[in-house]
Amino acid sequence: MTSVSTHEPALRAQSVIKELRGGDEPVLAVRGTSLTIPRGQFVAITGPSGSGKSTLLYLLGALDRPTSGRVYIDGQDTSSLADPALAALRREKIGFVFQFHFLLPELTALDNVALPMMLSGVAQPAARAQAEVLLDRLELSHRKAHLPHELSGGQQQRVALARALANSPLVLLGDEPTGNLDTANSLRVYEWLREHNLQQGQTIVLVTHNPELASAADRIIELVDGAVVNDSAPEPTEATV
Ligand code: ADP
Ligand code: MG
Repeated sequence: MTSVSTHEPALRAQSVIKELRGGDEPVLAVRGTSLTIPRGQFVAITGPSGSGKSTLLYLLGALDRPTSGRVYIDGQDTSSLADPALAALRREKIGFVFQFHFLLPELTALDNVALPMMLSGVAQPAARAQAEVLLDRLELSHRKAHLPHELSGGQQQRVALARALANSPLVLLGDEPTGNLDTANSLRVYEWLREHNLQQGQTIVLVTHNPELASAADRIIELVDGAVVNDSAPEPTEATV
């Protein structure tokens, strides 16, 4: 792992509250959460459906703003930024991957991965070259010219991961990124992410309700009803003892 001890933590939430208004009743989706995620950590956020996992993840990635409290990305207080500056910070520091991949159907795997780099000002040949490197690492070189519908679910999800990593984000955030894959494919994606975390020092925060997947992380943050009820390293299993 790269030496990072002199840097700010990747993410920090300070007394974050998020109130959502669905019907008549406001819902406290996040109830005053404070947490720090150091660089290089691999974190799983778990908890039952409706416990606020997605809401917390989107707040940490500045896709959404808290009702009160603060979120810091790489030491930068996001509450001090207007929307365009926040979007720029997000583009620079955060990679997102979701349960459904949202690949652009008319672009090849290669161009789906190259696009975010081009949007950040990288020239097409360099963006494509870097996209090839990422697809190669994800064992997808032989599929780079394929359109998303010509790929399996697991392959599509790996292309989405390559795209999320395209701008070398400080933090990779995933909301049930393997939620539409079977267990074997999910485990492979997690193994790959773990490797990427260890080799590149990539900070990763993933929402998952699958305990087997969560146990691959350095740290499990468990939410119930919008509050952190447990924040610890996974229980050792026979495989890791
Ligand atoms: P999880 O990802 O753990 O399933 P969410 O973060 O999606 O949970 O939701 C947390 C709570 O906020 C739930 O009670 C949910 O019903 C509510 N909620 C989520 N999104 C909205 C919204 N757009 N409007 C109102 N309430 C919402
Ligand atoms: Mg969710």
